[in-house]
Amino acid sequence: MKKTPEFRIVGKISKEKEEELKNLFKNRFLNHYLFLTPEQKKFLEKYELSKTKEEIKIIELVNKATSKFMKNLGVKPIDVSSQNIHLIEVKNIGYFVPPTSEKYKRDLEENYKNYINQKLKEIEEGFKQGFLSEELYREVKKKYEEKKEKKYEEIWVEKNKDLLAGYTDPYNQWIILLAEIARVQKREGGFYLIPFMNLVLHEILHFKSYAAFSVDQELKPWSYRRGVRVFPPATSPKIEAYFLGLDEAITAEIGKRLFNQLIENKIFTEEIRWLRSEKAKLLIKDLSIIFNFPEDEIFWINENYEFNFDLENSNNIRIFEFYHQRKVLNYLCEEIQKEFSDQYPNKEAVFNEFFKAYFNGKLLTIARLVEKTFGEGSFRLLGQMKTVLISEVKNIFEKLQNLRNKRKESQK
Ligand SMILES: [Zn+2]
Repeated sequence: MKKTPEFRIVGKISKEKEEELKNLFKNRFLNHYLFLTPEQKKFLEKYELSKTKEEIKIIELVNKATSKFMKNLGVKPIDVSSQNIHLIEVKNIGYFVPPTSEKYKRDLEENYKNYINQKLKEIEEGFKQGFLSEELYREVKKKYEEKKEKKYEEIWVEKNKDLLAGYTDPYNQWIILLAEIARVQKREGGFYLIPFMNLVLHEILHFKSYAAFSVDQELKPWSYRRGVRVFPPATSPKIEAYFLGLDEAITAEIGKRLFNQLIENKIFTEEIRWLRSEKAKLLIKDLSIIFNFPEDEIFWINENYEFNFDLENSNNIRIFEFYHQRKVLNYLCEEIQKEFSDQYPNKEAVFNEFFKAYFNGKLLTIARLVEKTFGEGSFRLLGQMKTVLISEVKNIFEKLQNLRNKRKESQK
C-alpha cells in the first residue's frame, strides 16, 4: 500500500468542500495522470521527456531512503512514485507554472510593471545624455514596452528559468525537473546518474515535507505551509512568505546526509570510481582552494572537466545546495545544544528537532529553542532569511551572533 500524505486545509470552508479538495489532492497523488486537467494532460503528452530505466530506479531508491529517514525520525512516511515526477525542458516550463492566488498574481504583475517602468525611465535618461544611439534606444524601448504586457505565467518563467533546477507543486501533486539540469550528457552517450539523483532527492524531500493549504474567497486553495515555510493566508493582503531560507537549509541538510548513503548503491559504482580517483580528488581539492569552499561540499565533478571560473556551471561541477543558509542552521544547532546540553547530548539531536518540524509542521519546539538561546525576536529574524541573496543571509547570521553574544553577556 502506498503511504499517502495527509492533506490539510485551513480557512473558511465547508466540511463538504474541504473533503472535495482533499479527495482531489489524494487522487492527483495516487492516480496522477488521471486526475489532471485535460489541458495539463495535453501539455504533458507533448512536452514531458520519458525517463530512462536508471532514472526510474533512482527515484525508487530515493523514495525508500527518504521514507526510512522519516520513519527513523518518528514521522509518518510518504511514498512518491515516478509518475508524479516530470522531466521538462527549460523552454517549455511555461506550461507548468505553479498555480497561485489571484491576489499574488496581481501583486506580481504590478511589481513587474513598476520594474519595467523604472527601466524605461533609465533608458530614456541614457538616450537624453547621449549614451544610446537613436536606433538602439528605439529597439530597447520597444523590447521593454512589450514586456509591460506580461502576465503572471510569463513573469514567473522569466524570473525563475535561470534560478531553478526543479520545483515541487503540492496543488498538482507533481515535481517538475528541468531536464537540462537533471541530465548531464556523457560524451559517449547517455546521462550521468549522480547529478540526477541529487536533484530528485532535493525535490522529493520538498514533496514529502509538511503541506497545508488555505483557501481564498473563491475557495481556491493555495500553499499555506510547506515544510517550515509560512505563507500568509490566501485572504490576507500580505504576500511575503517566511522561513524560505531555513526551509531550504533543512532540505539541503537532510539531502546531504542521504546523498552520502545513496551513492553506496551499486547503480552508482562506475561514477563513484571516478569521483574517488586520485585525479578527481586533486581537482576537487584545487577547486576548493580557488573558490574558498569546503571540499566535501563539491559532490560531483565531470570526468571531462574543463576549468572555468563559474562555480555554478552545472555541467562541470555540482555542489550541495544552500551552503550559506546551512551554515546558519549549523550555528543554530551548535548554540542550542550548548544552551540545552542536558536535553540534547549532541548537535545531531538538535538537528533532528528541525527535521521533525520540517515533516510534521509543528514549529513550536524549534521556535522555543531559538528564542531561549538567542533571545526574544530571534525566531522572527530567522524567518526573514531568504534563498537568493547571500549578503542578506550573511547579514542575518551576524545579527544572530550578536544576539547570542548579548544574551551570554547578560547571563554572566
Ligand atoms: Zn529547494
